[in-house]
Amino acid sequence: MHDGVRVRFAPSPTGLPHLGNVRTALFNWLFARHYGGSFIVRMEDTDLARSAEGADQKILEGLDWLGLDWDEGPQKGGGYGPYYQSQRVSIYQSHAQQLLQEGHAYVCYCSPKRLEEMRREQERRGGPPGYDSRCRGLSRAEAERYEDQGISPVVRFKVPLEGGTSFHDLLRGEISFANSSLDDFVLLKSDGYPTYHLANVVDDHLMEISDVLRADEWIPSTPRHILIYQAFGWTPPRYIHLPLILDKSGGKMSKRLGDVSIDSYKQRGYLPEAIVNYLALLGWSPGDTQEIFSLEELVPRFSWERISVSPAIFDPKRLSWFNRRYLCNSAPNRIAEAVSPYLRAAYGRDERSEGTAYSPGAWRELLVDQVREEVDSLDQMPDRVGFAFLNEVDYRAEAREALSAASAGKVLQALAERLSALTSLDADEASSLLQELRVRFKEQEDLAARELLFPIRASLTGTLHGPGLAAVMALLGRERCIERVRSSLSSISS
Ligand code: GLU
Repeated sequence: MHDGVRVRFAPSPTGLPHLGNVRTALFNWLFARHYGGSFIVRMEDTDLARSAEGADQKILEGLDWLGLDWDEGPQKGGGYGPYYQSQRVSIYQSHAQQLLQEGHAYVCYCSPKRLEEMRREQERRGGPPGYDSRCRGLSRAEAERYEDQGISPVVRFKVPLEGGTSFHDLLRGEISFANSSLDDFVLLKSDGYPTYHLANVVDDHLMEISDVLRADEWIPSTPRHILIYQAFGWTPPRYIHLPLILDKSGGKMSKRLGDVSIDSYKQRGYLPEAIVNYLALLGWSPGDTQEIFSLEELVPRFSWERISVSPAIFDPKRLSWFNRRYLCNSAPNRIAEAVSPYLRAAYGRDERSEGTAYSPGAWRELLVDQVREEVDSLDQMPDRVGFAFLNEVDYRAEAREALSAASAGKVLQALAERLSALTSLDADEASSLLQELRVRFKEQEDLAARELLFPIRASLTGTLHGPGLAAVMALLGRERCIERVRSSLSSISS
């Protein structure tokens, strides 16, 4: 059944791509990869009024970032191009001509004003909306009169007046529409540009698309497409309409475009693998309890039979949960690299390893390891590691209190002496040093662990919370630890 699979992602570049668009792209990509077919990207950019400058690039960057590579399309080319519909306008025009000549379409000179009045009247009467077919029976003489007035017509499809149009959706079965519910829709606009219906069908046919996977909001368009296929004598592709994505309040997710754009998730430091994993489960299920899937694992597991027909609910908290899982479970160097831009934005640099026992890369990995379990996204990391980047320690009240404890001076004095005797300080060495001090102060002064650790942490970080103390010391390095401890000592004694 799935020989020669060719599927397409056909976005209209009207704004930033959002999670809903990308879910469609992902399912098409998985379908193509699963059945060994081709994944094609086609820009549906003939709606000049709605096209947004640079939106096509954003879409392609988004796909690239998520790892959804395409076999044909912009930047890549292919045997069925061009892949921008705006570069194919003459193809649509000649196909509209063909439909006119064969009696499946007609020219319509109705002015926007007349169409608007017609629409209002329909609304007033409560009748079905849609074009009233006034120009369907226009004589040649009448058409010539309009032409003489310099009016450019649109081309409309002649929907059969009787009967019905049905198609088979792989998930939903037979879907039928009465032809009387479909009006004579526009194929070619008066500026010569095609509508979505014409361009989409012509391209799906010419690009030999085998399966159309698209959001179910397109179902009402599908009978119109079927009529166009029939008029040309072409075989339609197979259809899979993907379940709607709703937000938690039951609204359509795409309405809140800004906060669900791929770009905003990328900027906030969500990992592409977390987004892919979450989106794969938005309308598809593996049939068991496995939740964590890489793109590679999804390819063999994905099957269209397990796509759901009921709406999927977009839950930002669940997406954060996936991101956290990936932040915690990915290789430390993967996360260290990903957090780099966030550190640079916050501190002007992405490491401060000089004077420590670590190379820049190893230093960043150690840093990331301390905080990655506590954040939802990379953008939350820099705030938690200021102690390792900033020269000035910002002492909170709790830290000042810990430093004013009776034993704080003695503890810090001992620490400064031990540090001065060392030549290097990695996390293991810091850990043994702390252990040694604990034993010593327990035996000699009967100090509890917190009485030892609180002043040290307070002195080094300015707070009583944060990463493990041995790691804090290793990240600061011997010199900076000594400096901070000495500075605390001098403010204690002054
Ligand atoms: N250009 C349409 C969109 O923006 C394509 C719909 C389809 O896949 O047919 O989603």
